[in-house]
Amino acid sequence: MLIHESEFCQSNAVVVQGGTGALLIDAGVHEGEMACLVSDLSDLGNTVVAGFSTHPHWDHLLWHVGLGTVPRYGTARCAATVRDRLSGGIDARRFGIPEDVSLDLLGLLTGLPTDTVRIPWDGPGIRIIEHQAHAPGHAALLIEERGVLVAGDMLSDVLIPMLDLNGTGDPIEDYLAALRLLEDVAGDVSVVVPGHGSVGGADQLRARIDQDRAYVHALRDGLDPSDPRIGPSAKPGWEWVSDVHAGQLQRLHLRSESDGTPD
Ligand SMILES: [Zn+2]
Repeated sequence: MLIHESEFCQSNAVVVQGGTGALLIDAGVHEGEMACLVSDLSDLGNTVVAGFSTHPHWDHLLWHVGLGTVPRYGTARCAATVRDRLSGGIDARRFGIPEDVSLDLLGLLTGLPTDTVRIPWDGPGIRIIEHQAHAPGHAALLIEERGVLVAGDMLSDVLIPMLDLNGTGDPIEDYLAALRLLEDVAGDVSVVVPGHGSVGGADQLRARIDQDRAYVHALRDGLDPSDPRIGPSAKPGWEWVSDVHAGQLQRLHLRSESDGTPD
């Protein structure tokens, strides 16, 4: 298994070796970085036989022409969301997409039938843990024989839980439910790879589940989260995460006002 960390928000692309080639999870962001991945794989005599996107956000939906035309999977709900959201194109500036990023192959996903347990490919068993935190049809992946959990945009040491505040569900409860699913498999995990941030071991996995849950609880209860990822203790370059927190606080407040729920 190989991991490539991008300059863009410490995005992690994960390569899993299979019998006839590799599976590439969340391929990467910058054109040059993906080109580098293509050449590294070819130096190793390796080809990509399939891709997987953990969730329907642009930075997890990119692809490089050199990676070839192979099935690129996501959950059914992820693929449907991508189709919906990209039907009118994408405004690169609004999403802050760097100029060198090629959007030609953005989001060309094949949705796996609902309740698919493992990714269909010739390689180690990869269990799909679908949930509704962060984005519709988000999947964490458990590479079972290796004890590796690819968490998508959760369990990061630099990014707080970012709730899906666009949906009709209960973003707080959806997030907590997803953390419970990840906690259920924690005993089988020795390495956690977040979508953005540092790779961690089993202790980190437990610590990050607790940290993410404490943050969501604080958000729900209107308390100061005292989370190291926001405020003066944020990692240099990640100061903007405090703005994400302020925005979530405000939008949740507005949602509860329009619900008529007192807070
Ligand atoms: Zn995301």
